[in-house]
Amino acid sequence: MPMDDTLKNAIDKDYPYIHNLYTHLHSHPELSFHEQKTAERLAKELRVTGFEVTEGVGGYGLVALMKNGEGPTVMIRTDMDALPVKEKTELPYASTHYHQEKSGQNLPVMHACGHDIHMSLFIGTSRRMAAMKKHWSGTLMMIAQPAEERGAGARLMLEDGLFERFVRPDYNLALHVHPELPSGTVSVQSGYSFANVDSVDINVFGQGGHGAMPASAKDPIVLAAHIVIALQTIVSREVSPQDAAVVTIGTIQGGMKRENIPEQVDLQLTVRTYTEETRKKVLTSIKRIAENQARSYGITEDKLPKIHIEQKYIPAVYNDPPLSQRIREHFKKRLGREQVKDIQPSMVGEDFTLYGLIEPRIPSLMFRLGAVDPAAYEQAKQEKTSLPSLHSPYFAPPPEATIKTGIEAMTEAALLLLKKL
Ligand SMILES: [Zn+2]
Ligand SMILES: [Zn+2]
Repeated sequence: MPMDDTLKNAIDKDYPYIHNLYTHLHSHPELSFHEQKTAERLAKELRVTGFEVTEGVGGYGLVALMKNGEGPTVMIRTDMDALPVKEKTELPYASTHYHQEKSGQNLPVMHACGHDIHMSLFIGTSRRMAAMKKHWSGTLMMIAQPAEERGAGARLMLEDGLFERFVRPDYNLALHVHPELPSGTVSVQSGYSFANVDSVDINVFGQGGHGAMPASAKDPIVLAAHIVIALQTIVSREVSPQDAAVVTIGTIQGGMKRENIPEQVDLQLTVRTYTEETRKKVLTSIKRIAENQARSYGITEDKLPKIHIEQKYIPAVYNDPPLSQRIREHFKKRLGREQVKDIQPSMVGEDFTLYGLIEPRIPSLMFRLGAVDPAAYEQAKQEKTSLPSLHSPYFAPPPEATIKTGIEAMTEAALLLLKKL
């Protein structure tokens, strides 16, 4: 029997076990930095499968190693955290969990980004790789990362000596469910796949006063409004139409009372780009525009807007082109030509990229996994309606087709890279 049929059959046979794990994880979600029970469960699963597991790497991170003779090291990463979202899917295994903050506030928790799917297929892949040990040679390094949604977990694991205490991989692999691809399909993008994510704060200063006497004040609300509009020209007039960037002002806060002119208005921005060149250009333009709008408004040099760019930004995910092309071709052969779709890169961020940026850079790939019921996908396409996005309280990928394809694709990718010579 050819190996691909053997693998498909083995995945089918193991699925009831993985499905139980999935419904457990889905109904027991944990927020970023609180993935304790999730990590314990994954550690147990990996140990039973024969991996050497270390817990507590960069918080609740896990590192599981399977050394299987000579050959390269392949790292496979899953994320573990859920989101403060109140689930509205009405699934029998929907989350009813709440997380109590130190402040006493109760937050609903849901796996609304599909990290439960990622973990389930991660364990499914570990079980297949362990069962197929005689078909590959090298080291398999499986890591479960905390706090992806906060853009912190990858950095924490690296700072805790991920590649020094354990082993430095030759390849990094991960995937993310995609809310606009039918289950049963995958997409492998070569080059930029996710964006640089920068967080920028702007404090706009004025001179407070009575709302009835604007001439004796300097109204920072009007100035902030000008800045908000002027910032729109960065993407429309300064970035090349062939390039891409996003400047979103997500919050604007100023003033306490309708009759008062406040002293200050605060803006919070998210900035998305692909290339480093465009990133620098957009950030420089934000500063130039904010400062010069203030100057034109008569703000003195000592009271120009203060611009704070968060140092720990999330760099864009760049899928190594030779690795991506190799795996894409392999998926076409193994999963089927129609199963491999083309999609556009997106402007969301993913801290998986950090594992590949440690010099000398490690060829890395994060591919997408279809996570929509194919019938619902077709219907939405025909009726031009939109499907629940990631982070939506209605996000409900059909588990069986999604997870099985995920296990197959991830196992095939690992087997290709760890092929016995
Ligand atoms: Zn997310
Ligand atoms: Zn996610």
